[in-house]
Amino acid sequence: MPGTSTPLTAAQIRAAFKKFGVKYREVPGWETRNRAGHGAWGPVVGFMVHHTGDDAPDTADRNVIINGRTGLPGPLAQFGGNDDDTIDLIGLGRANHAGTGDPDVLAAVRDESYANYPPQPNQKTVDGNGRFYGLETYYSGKTRPKQYASMVNLAAAICDAHGWTGKSVIGHKEWSYTKPDPGSVDMAQFRRDVDARIKAVNSGTPSKPTAPTPDPSLGGLTMADINTLTEQLARIEGKLDAVKVDVSDDLTKADGATLRNDLAWQNRQAAALAGQVAGLSTALTSLAAGQGVDLDAVAAAAKAGAQAALDEKIAGAVTQLNVTP
Ligand SMILES: [Zn+2]
Repeated sequence: MPGTSTPLTAAQIRAAFKKFGVKYREVPGWETRNRAGHGAWGPVVGFMVHHTGDDAPDTADRNVIINGRTGLPGPLAQFGGNDDDTIDLIGLGRANHAGTGDPDVLAAVRDESYANYPPQPNQKTVDGNGRFYGLETYYSGKTRPKQYASMVNLAAAICDAHGWTGKSVIGHKEWSYTKPDPGSVDMAQFRRDVDARIKAVNSGTPSKPTAPTPDPSLGGLTMADINTLTEQLARIEGKLDAVKVDVSDDLTKADGATLRNDLAWQNRQAAALAGQVAGLSTALTSLAAGQGVDLDAVAAAAKAGAQAALDEKIAGAVTQLNVTP
């Protein structure tokens, strides 16, 4: 989430560095080196990239960032970027790196509400030292590829720890109209590189849970799917075993007699009904023909129908059970 955020602790910075594989060294005393008492530190809104502007050995640059220079007390950044792509942990807390800048830029970075570049700075009215982390990279002209990668990785680690995107990263030249650093670095590209790095680390970190990848040879099913199905099938098989009855083994001759009697009774009921239907049918035919209804004839027809149906049913039942009645 873009917005203002509580500054990271030393432990959180180390954890972020570990997650992103930032190569770093802790300059002794860094955890208490800051400009406390000279203004706020936090809430923070972003990360600012600088360069020192000289090609002196890294040791000389580092000393300036730690101790400051005439008229500008140190520390001059929280982070230092070596030629060999190691990041120095210089300080923790407020540092003299951003100076004053443009409130419109501050709002745009805080809200990450701009496209490729934040608005052109044309004011120097708000303090940036309390709102931005600062990286001083030890170079004057063009970054070396490895050094550039380490700058991107550092910014990505800090942004990720805050839930920011690359849009929370600006160059000093985007904050103040009197500053040229970090020189030739195109900050829009830098921000895209930060986003790509955050995405890469978060999609490849083994400590974070990721969705299982289906094995194409399993028809799109994962091994977890197959294990679940196997387990369910075993349970269903168990239930089937429990209800399975072998009729040929368990059916005794007595059972056969009982079944035959039951079946015969049901068939007699069915035959009686069939006979009644036959008798009624005869009566209806007589009525339809205007011949009146002979009740004796209807009763006789019903009786005959019932007997015929009964004979048929019993013969069928006997065949079915294969027993002698
Ligand atoms: Zn600067």
